[in-house]
Amino acid sequence: MTLTNWAGNYAYLAPVVQHPRSVEELSQIVASSPQVRALGTRHCFNDLADGPGTLVALDGLPSSVRIDPDARTVTVSAGTRYGTLAEELHESGWALGNLASLPHISVAGAIATATHGSGDRSQNLAAAVCGLRLVSPDGSLRSVVRGDDDFAGSVVALGALGIAVEVTLDIEHTYEVAQEVHEELPWEAALANLDEVTSSAGSVSLFTDWRGSSIQQVWRKTRVSPSFEPRADFHGATPATAQRHPLPGIDPVHTTAQLASAGPWHERLPHFRLDFTPSNGAELQSEYLVPRSSAVDALQAVRALSDQIAPLLQVSEIRTIAGDDLWLSTASGGDRVGIHFTWHPKETLVAALLPTIEAALAPFEARPHWGKLFADDDRSLARLYPRWDDFRSLVARTDPDGVFRNAFLDRHVLQD
Ligand SMILES: Cc1cc2nc3c(=O)[nH]c(=O)nc-3n(C[C@H](O)[C@H](O)[C@H](O)COP(=O)(O)OP(=O)(O)OC[C@H]3O[C@@H](n4cnc5c(N)ncnc54)[C@H](O)[C@@H]3O)c2cc1C
Repeated sequence: MTLTNWAGNYAYLAPVVQHPRSVEELSQIVASSPQVRALGTRHCFNDLADGPGTLVALDGLPSSVRIDPDARTVTVSAGTRYGTLAEELHESGWALGNLASLPHISVAGAIATATHGSGDRSQNLAAAVCGLRLVSPDGSLRSVVRGDDDFAGSVVALGALGIAVEVTLDIEHTYEVAQEVHEELPWEAALANLDEVTSSAGSVSLFTDWRGSSIQQVWRKTRVSPSFEPRADFHGATPATAQRHPLPGIDPVHTTAQLASAGPWHERLPHFRLDFTPSNGAELQSEYLVPRSSAVDALQAVRALSDQIAPLLQVSEIRTIAGDDLWLSTASGGDRVGIHFTWHPKETLVAALLPTIEAALAPFEARPHWGKLFADDDRSLARLYPRWDDFRSLVARTDPDGVFRNAFLDRHVLQD
């Protein structure tokens, strides 16, 4: 049977998929395979995870979650889904600082692509990584920890440096979050007060179809403190009176509790519940990350394309991400605003539109999300990352024979 990604828009070409039952077995597979790539939970929309040789899925490896309360870290088997990790952390009184919109994705797969949630002070999930244990091309195990020379190049690594078997993450004491949804935020108010809007809660997401004079939904997630009060008016937007789904026409039973009810962090920070389908399922996604200082101009540039975008769009989401120092992180070097598109599954039409969006966002040095669809027709990614050449040198040193190379890396990163 053909193995596809979660969305079903990409069928992996790799001829072999292995499910090792132990790290030793994984090491042997890597040592004896000329080409190998790791699979996470297959939520990427492109061919990033694929390879010309063997794919290894880590779902057969023993799962482990080890909390170190003194170091305030957790070491987790790399294929663990964030939702599973979050439940174990919360039960032990601990938490992560942030989560993506869905808890279904694997830790290793998410950090490899700079997956993020939202929040002016929330960094990409990869920024919480303080250590990695990786299988090298010869099958041996090596560790890289925060502070090592190559660490900042090794976390958002697109699977190019080895297969992660364990990831160590920063943790904090568990906390509660309340989620409010407001409807019909006037675009004028959003653009005039963008800083106030995005800093009004720990995590803020704006959902729009780019048409009309208002943004349809604003999702705000606030850490609950004794002084927490739900907001009646939000820059002209009004509180939703019932649970909402960000996509039109989908049952909000899939979404985490709203209406300002307080609950554990992991049951509010993701938009979607672990035991339900996230988003739609029948969809494609793209996202571009622009510098925070260019956000208003970039949003205006996309709005100007609304007539072309709207017929293919289910919904767009605008989020903020705090900067970090990871070489290939989409927030490397400074705060970013993410402009995301959930498309109808019309691949040819979406592919034809992406160059237009990328041309409109090119003046803002927009970085495409590594795991979503993008065109990069002019092969411009190198110009967007100051440590690009360092990453390429790191790949050349770590994997001189190209065991972890694939078509995506050849096309976008490692080409001459
Ligand atoms: C419905 C939906 C909602 C989404 N929401 C968000 C969101 O809120 N924010 C956001 O930023 N993104 C989002 N994404 C994108 C998603 O988070 C990324 O594509 C992420 O990389 C998926 O992780 P995965 O475990 O499925 O990885 P995969 O797609 O399986 O693999 C991704 C990459 O990780 C590598 N990899 C996987 N495991 C390992 C390992 N053990 N060692 C080394 N490399 C490994 C693979 O080789 C590949 O290069 C969403 C996607 C979907 C489908």
